[in-house]
Amino acid sequence: MSLLTQDARSVGRQLTADVAIVGAGPVGCVAALAWARRGVRVCVIDAGCAPTRLAGEWLHPTGASVLSHLGVDLTKQGVPHACGRGFAIFPAGSTPIVLSYVGGELGVGCQHHWLVQALHATMAQIPNIHVIHGYRVVDVGPGKVVAVCARRAHSVTLRSDWVVGADGRQSVVRQKLGYAGNGRPVSYMAGFLIPAAVLPYPEHGNVFLGGPGPVLAFRVNATQARVCFDVPADRVMWIRHPHELVRAYRSILPGPIADACQKALETDAPAVAANQLLRRRYYGRGKMALIGDAVGHCHPLCAVGMSVGFLDAVTLAESATVEEFAAKRYFAGRVPELLSMGLYDLFVSSDPGSVELRQAVYQLWRTSAAARHDTMRLLAVRETRRLALGITFARLLSAASRQIVRELLTRSWSRSLAAVCGLGRWGGWFAREMIVA
Ligand SMILES: Cc1cc2nc3c(=O)[nH]c(=O)nc-3n(C[C@H](O)[C@H](O)[C@H](O)COP(=O)(O)OP(=O)(O)OC[C@H]3O[C@@H](n4cnc5c(N)ncnc54)[C@H](O)[C@@H]3O)c2cc1C
Repeated sequence: MSLLTQDARSVGRQLTADVAIVGAGPVGCVAALAWARRGVRVCVIDAGCAPTRLAGEWLHPTGASVLSHLGVDLTKQGVPHACGRGFAIFPAGSTPIVLSYVGGELGVGCQHHWLVQALHATMAQIPNIHVIHGYRVVDVGPGKVVAVCARRAHSVTLRSDWVVGADGRQSVVRQKLGYAGNGRPVSYMAGFLIPAAVLPYPEHGNVFLGGPGPVLAFRVNATQARVCFDVPADRVMWIRHPHELVRAYRSILPGPIADACQKALETDAPAVAANQLLRRRYYGRGKMALIGDAVGHCHPLCAVGMSVGFLDAVTLAESATVEEFAAKRYFAGRVPELLSMGLYDLFVSSDPGSVELRQAVYQLWRTSAAARHDTMRLLAVRETRRLALGITFARLLSAASRQIVRELLTRSWSRSLAAVCGLGRWGGWFAREMIVA
């Protein structure tokens, strides 16, 4: 059934389904496909807000394999995309470090709206998924969803066994469940589209460090690359003056990338999004569940948002109760979240302990295949055990501490003391986050 037909038939009507999903972003669509495979009747309602906004465009192999398992084939659907082998990290002033996915796995780079379009096209093929587009959900409760179409002042009431909130960062389902907390602003992201040919590592996500914030550049199709500038919250004026933005980061970028961004500004302003942090704590109760960004969200540097959300979606479809779902996802979602928070802070902080730890991270990645392997398993959301993250973090702290001891005689006591205190702060942060988890 076409979306339009469904839309028209449902106006002013009472509908029923087994599962009502609020939000047809990437995670809501994956949830619909996962439930539908189990033979249940799914109804997805989406307000259709800003489909071309700047959002997830790099999918780790974990997320990519969820898509192929659910029959979403970007190549067959003719969706422009590119494969990604991992990351090339460019620490300021030294040679790049290549971190490839373990076992030759591939991630995917794809413009957000194309990815969502491919998911919608796949859903449209499945008879037991109905999508109601252009309706904003205004009220939800156990077994009931009410949505209105602002343009035509029509409403739809949907009765269902399950209600799933896949409605992103401002989730109305989350609010109706009474969960406290709003996302904390972290920074802004400004995104440019440039020719892919200028990337030094065209098959990897290129991460440039040492500027006011990290810059991430990766292919989104055969010819184009997305460049994302992380703009610190106190430099928001750069968003309004993007030429200054590119100038401020020029020293850490290869000349052709900076030039291509300046050139892109001749035709388009950069796409802009706010980066926010909301800890993943609440997954729902009764038969009302939250998935994806509606549970929580973190800085996009590690590009884990969609992969984590997809795992929420498929796990929920396999769970008998919200409690079972939450128990499976709580720590598995916490590990990528902690990794993202920790790596972002490590890359942007300038205190002596962070500088020390950062150098230890670079050194370990350069010299130890085991460290690269463990990092990439965590980053790709293949490894989600707290113990694995704990071991990796302890290894980094110990490498940084050894470095301080080795250099005790060659630098001032005050600098060494500041570095030791800084490492202590990092250790405390990690222990606290693990315990509070
Ligand atoms: C700048 C930026 C870059 C990012 N880069 C990456 C990346 O490279 N890789 C990655 O994995 N992640 C990335 N992320 C995170 C990623 O975009 C999100 O994790 C992902 O989009 C979450 O999907 P979702 O379906 O949960 O929510 P959303 O994508 O927010 O979708 C929510 C859907 O719900 C609908 N909706 C909302 N409210 C209502 C309502 N009341 N009624 C009906 N419908 C409603 C909206 O229209 C929307 O379609 C990035 C995020 C940002 C901000």
